[in-house]
Amino acid sequence: MSHVELNQITKSFGATSVIPPLDLAIEKGEFLVLVGPSGCGKTTTLRMLAGLESASSGSIRINGRDVTHARPGERDCAMVFQNYALYPHMSVRENIGYAMKVHGTDKAVIAERVTEASRLLGLDPYLDRKPKNLSGGQRQRVAIGRALVRHPQVFLFDEPLSNLDAKLRVEMRTEIKLLQRRLGTTAVYVTHDQVEAMTMADRVVVMRAGRIEQAADPITLYERPANRFVANFIGSPAMNFLNATIADGAVRVGDQVLSLPPDEAARLGARGSVIFGIRPEHMRASEHQAALSFVPEAVEPLGPHTLVLGRLAGEKITAQVDPRFPVTPGAPCTVPIDMTQAHFFDPQTEQRL
Ligand code: ATP
Repeated sequence: MSHVELNQITKSFGATSVIPPLDLAIEKGEFLVLVGPSGCGKTTTLRMLAGLESASSGSIRINGRDVTHARPGERDCAMVFQNYALYPHMSVRENIGYAMKVHGTDKAVIAERVTEASRLLGLDPYLDRKPKNLSGGQRQRVAIGRALVRHPQVFLFDEPLSNLDAKLRVEMRTEIKLLQRRLGTTAVYVTHDQVEAMTMADRVVVMRAGRIEQAADPITLYERPANRFVANFIGSPAMNFLNATIADGAVRVGDQVLSLPPDEAARLGARGSVIFGIRPEHMRASEHQAALSFVPEAVEPLGPHTLVLGRLAGEKITAQVDPRFPVTPGAPCTVPIDMTQAHFFDPQTEQRL
């Protein structure tokens, strides 16, 4: 039995169904990230786990116990919100200990847990400060501290880093991940940021319109996306998709022919129409190299590499090349394609071939 189980969970708001039957099992100690575009149902799923939203049907088990109808306080989950929700008139110490105080926890236990959490989070020097005298990162740590002191079965994070600046976000995501690993507490984390999802998760669940498109570890998602939606969502800049055909061991894009590695040619056979997917970073030299020519419209130097943006057979294309790669907007260029990294999708179902 898994530590957290959602069985055939659905959610409707009035007549609108936002989550069709959804099954999800989370293992003890796992860091699971729910990711997907705005409105896909990530937060609703998390809130149903927390008990802040009731499921329309289906059941939820946490640590073997059916909590489908349990109140939030009875689920042994601790949630960290995007807006921190700290009490402005209370000190850091009081904020962290407040929930335990309300539950009538012994004062000595509260003090001990607050000390433990503040040490873990580096908040000792700030225990007597009010939230307004803290930086965004420190406030976020206090919000995490409030969740930690409860020693919950499950941490639930709802976009906890989205109010922080880019640099702090990167620091805090490492901190949260290390802390979770150290404590071994099961975590469910919601974000719309695929980089956050990929860097923090043991397993990423990609959602669209309330459905799970793919649930896999980050590398599998990147290397073997189950369909075009996942392929497009994971990776930055996004994968290029070109209408193509496969015949005679080669991919044809417009009038250009790219030969396939023999094993791929054998696997794919004569397919006819396909969607050919290639990530910008895989437009590089390799032992199974092909080439694509197109006219660049813009060239964007980023330092470690340069992005070349253009159009090929009417479709947008982005290549990520070495900064020394010779390229000028308006002048046709030919970029190498690593065919071992090519992806193919069915043009009708958009599923991976
Ligand atoms: P975001 O990244 O924008 O927060 P999300 O993936 O977390 O999006 P949800 O907040 O779970 O998405 O919303 C899923 C769908 O349910 C959306 O279409 C939203 O408009 C709808 N929804 C959420 N809460 C309610 C509500 N209380 N009443 C009606 N519709 C709601």
